[in-house]
Amino acid sequence: MGARDDEEAERFVAQQRWPDGARCPKCDSRNVAVRKRRPDRRWPQWRCRDCRRDFTAITGTKWAGSRRCALEIAAVVESVDQQVDQSAEGSSITAGLPASERKVMAALRRRPLGATSAKLAELAAVSPSQTRRALRRLEQRGWTERRNRAINDGHVLAPVSLWALTYGSECISALRYLPQQPAPMPPLPAPDAVPPEFWHLFWSGTSGPELRISEDALRIAGSTIGSNDLSAEAWALATLPLHALQTLEQIRGYQKGDAASLVACEIERRTTARA
Ligand SMILES: [Zn+2]
Repeated sequence: MGARDDEEAERFVAQQRWPDGARCPKCDSRNVAVRKRRPDRRWPQWRCRDCRRDFTAITGTKWAGSRRCALEIAAVVESVDQQVDQSAEGSSITAGLPASERKVMAALRRRPLGATSAKLAELAAVSPSQTRRALRRLEQRGWTERRNRAINDGHVLAPVSLWALTYGSECISALRYLPQQPAPMPPLPAPDAVPPEFWHLFWSGTSGPELRISEDALRIAGSTIGSNDLSAEAWALATLPLHALQTLEQIRGYQKGDAASLVACEIERRTTARA
């Protein structure tokens, strides 16, 4: 992959360590949250919600405490990976397997009970038509099979085709030599700043680049909600903390009209979603 910068290298190391998403190295829990990035820390941190421990992608590995930067560590991790991938048995089975089939196989591995071809296309990041072609070719090899199921979509039982791996011996050998499909990382905490495209709305007082959502939420709300910039309004309603919207609702000028009903709707949505 050849990471271009430290952040990409950090993501790569984390994906290699936890292909299905981060786990606590202490208690093995998956109930973990990304912590806000601290400038004095060299690696992004997670916190385990079960044992309250903080950890990084290198905690508990031989790299912990190393002075090497993320790019160097990623380069070593990657070269070890390639040695495994290029071993004789693996390369004979997976030789000539097109990239789309490799990606679809990796996606199938993440859905042991089967998935629709549309879902697999999404997981594999391959186009739907390429995914269908890849599934049929893998079926010819005997590595995948199609099962017809009826699923309840809320109103009626709808028939669907679910694809799954056969887990035959050749299929399993191939799987061992396929790269792990990187799992999507948990979303990073939203930055505390106002996006530059909305700075023009703050033409008096603290300027746009200096505003912080954590400290100036009410002022940001007042300048975006009810402004003529509909995207700024939508961003503010989706992003600003609930208390800022609730305070805004009490302010004169936000008790009636379009802006007031947008604010009321969003407060309603968030408070009912939470209950
Ligand atoms: Zn834990």
